[in-house]
Amino acid sequence: MQTLLERLQGGEILFCDGALGTLLQARGLQVGECPELWSVDKPDDVQSIHQDYKDAGSDIVECNSFGGSRYKLSHYGLQDRVSEINRAAASVARKVAGNDQHVLGSMGPTGAFLEPLGDETPEAFTQAFAEQAIALQEGGADCVIIETMTAIEEATCAVKAAKENTTLTVVASFTFDPQIHGGYATMMGVTPSRFAEAMFEAGADILGSNCGTGPDHMVEIVRLIRETISEVPTMAMPNAGMPVIENGETVFKETPDEMANKACKLVDAGASIIGGCCGTTPAHIAAMRKAILGKH
Ligand SMILES: [Zn+2]
Repeated sequence: MQTLLERLQGGEILFCDGALGTLLQARGLQVGECPELWSVDKPDDVQSIHQDYKDAGSDIVECNSFGGSRYKLSHYGLQDRVSEINRAAASVARKVAGNDQHVLGSMGPTGAFLEPLGDETPEAFTQAFAEQAIALQEGGADCVIIETMTAIEEATCAVKAAKENTTLTVVASFTFDPQIHGGYATMMGVTPSRFAEAMFEAGADILGSNCGTGPDHMVEIVRLIRETISEVPTMAMPNAGMPVIENGETVFKETPDEMANKACKLVDAGASIIGGCCGTTPAHIAAMRKAILGKH
């Protein structure tokens, strides 16, 4: 099987999964419950969601490991089970993937802050991300996405931890919001161009953006990333539109057809991996795939 980078270098457009958390909730995940523990306790449910995305045409299965760092797991008293939980996430994904799909481990933010904003050191962050990345590779992942990141320093620790301790292909993906006076920045004030420069320098193999405010803004964010760094592939994982609050809950309302109509613009802007974040479902991935492969 060709590696992810080889396939992208060959000019393929590849598809990744959409949202996982909302589909776990639909299967009974309760508020306050640790989603990552489901890979250990309810692997059949996780496997069946991965299978739905595979059936929708996804080339890359994303692991149930977003909150799998020791920092996040400590909220549930599970900080001593990092290795077990991340191995399980990758192994249940690999079961579905076989040799047909790539297995993408997910590493989200720690939720903690580096000195002087918080108490954490770069060494502690690097160690936590290394622990997670090693377990993901041991479980069967061949690539990892450091995602929903907003701070250069934390993401640099994660990229370096993965590059130095594993042979995983590393994707760095930030979440940007539109700014009042134009342009885009993360919650920590990082622009797409600054992100691209810093993560390329840190050694990321693929640059991307996920979550945020839907496919329209994502097109512009991809364009800004590519304008700065076009030496490595770009990945786009938009939400299903702008978040809307309904009855106290955040919902995402773009339909598969609406997203499919915009998906070609993501590719035209330079993205070569397309997936989905909040609010997206297997139907969204299937519709975007159909629209893009029909045109490109
Ligand atoms: Zn999201």
